[in-house]
Amino acid sequence: LPEDVRELLLSRIKDVADYPKPGVMFKDITPLLADAKAFAALTDALVALAGRYGATKIVGLEARGFILAAPVAVQAGIGFVPVRKAGKLPGATLAQSYELEYGTAEIEVHAEDLSAGDRVMVIDDVLATGGTAEASLSLIRRAGAEVAGVAVLMELSFLPGRLRLAGALGGAPLDAL
Ligand code: AMP
Repeated sequence: LPEDVRELLLSRIKDVADYPKPGVMFKDITPLLADAKAFAALTDALVALAGRYGATKIVGLEARGFILAAPVAVQAGIGFVPVRKAGKLPGATLAQSYELEYGTAEIEVHAEDLSAGDRVMVIDDVLATGGTAEASLSLIRRAGAEVAGVAVLMELSFLPGRLRLAGALGGAPLDAL
C-alpha cells in the first residue's frame, strides 16, 4: 500500500480494549466504513489484489468480510459468495467445523456457488488465529475450486494465524494490507 493510504486506513481503525471479553483488543473498522475515501481506498487495494490473484470468485467471511468483499466483487466484475456461520444458508451446503480457543465453530457455503475452474479470493477484516480462514479454504477445495489467495485488512501478527494457514494455502498468497 502507498504510505498515505496505509496511514489513512490505520487512522480509521479503532482499538477497543476488552471487547467482546476481557483481554481482547477489538479492531473496530466501523470508522473506516463510515469514511467514503478510506472505504474506497481499501476497496481499490483489494480489487488490485483480486487482479493479481487472477480471481474469478470472491468469498467473504461472515460478517465483516461480507462488507469488505461485496464492493470488491462488484468493482472487479466477478461474483460474490458468502461463507456463513452454520444454519444460515437455505440450500445444499458444504460445512466445515474448526477449533476455537474453547470449543468449536462451524461455517458453511452453498455448494452450487463454487465449482471446478473457479479461482477464489477470500476476504476478511482480521486474521487472528487463522481458524476461520483455514476452514474457508477447506470449503473452497471441497467444492472443487482453487484457492487464489487470502486478503485481510489486518493480521494480528502476535498470533500464529499465518503459520496455521500456511498448509491450507498450499502456496497461494496471504496478503495483510
Ligand atoms: P480467527 O478465526 O481467530 O482468525 O478469527 C477471525 C475472525 O474473528 C474474523 O472474522 C474477525 O472478524 C474476528 N476477529 C478475531 N479477532 C478480532 C479482533 N481482535 N478484532 C476484530 N475482529 C476479530
